[in-house]
Amino acid sequence: MKVQNPKVKAQTSNFKLPTLRPFGRAQGRLCSGQASNFALEVRRRSGENVFRCYYCQKCTVGCPTAYVMDYKPAQVLKMIQLGMREPLLKSSAPWLCVGCEACGTRCPNGIRLAPVMDTLKYMALEAGYAPPEAKAYALHRSFLNNIKLFGRVHEATMLVEYKLRSRDLFSDLDLGVLLLLKGKIPLLPERVKALDQVKELYRRAGQ
Ligand code: SF4
Ligand code: SF4
Repeated sequence: MKVQNPKVKAQTSNFKLPTLRPFGRAQGRLCSGQASNFALEVRRRSGENVFRCYYCQKCTVGCPTAYVMDYKPAQVLKMIQLGMREPLLKSSAPWLCVGCEACGTRCPNGIRLAPVMDTLKYMALEAGYAPPEAKAYALHRSFLNNIKLFGRVHEATMLVEYKLRSRDLFSDLDLGVLLLLKGKIPLLPERVKALDQVKELYRRAGQ
């Protein structure tokens, strides 16, 4: 016969399961009807239905950089739903997202954080907030400028720009030289054939 520990019985006798609200497509419509302008703008610009998030936190658990973010990916979604514009636009989280898409593949509602984080980055810049992660921003700009120039990344020139922007000229220099000497990084850049199409994308994005 199974004997129940009296202490456990006392602790669980008053326990009630929380009432769960229905979610899914209907919830997305209902919530977005009451949403803040900020949440609606993030949804429009990112293309992701942020109202479908029900805070299961699977994105946070799978995110490789969540441990250094001030707000974790699931928290970012919740704060967007609550219209918490200012703390999010000052947050380090968007600048530390590496766009790996792990969250999008894990999310039961198919929400991709990468475009949401990109949207927050651009909204922060437009609103005049300085990126809290200066080096991450320097890398972000160097990467985008490099793609605009060659249509693909040329590591050597991208790293030179990053070093100048971040004013961190000498760290890891030995590693860079080693990679060049071993032929892991090509010295001269190559341009893609359809560079004009890449530039057109930048032009449409106002860059
Ligand atoms: S995995 Fe999807 S539903 Fe779950 S918290 Fe993250 S964004 Fe929300
Ligand atoms: S795309 Fe960004 S938020 Fe999503 S798992 Fe990758 S680093 Fe984390």
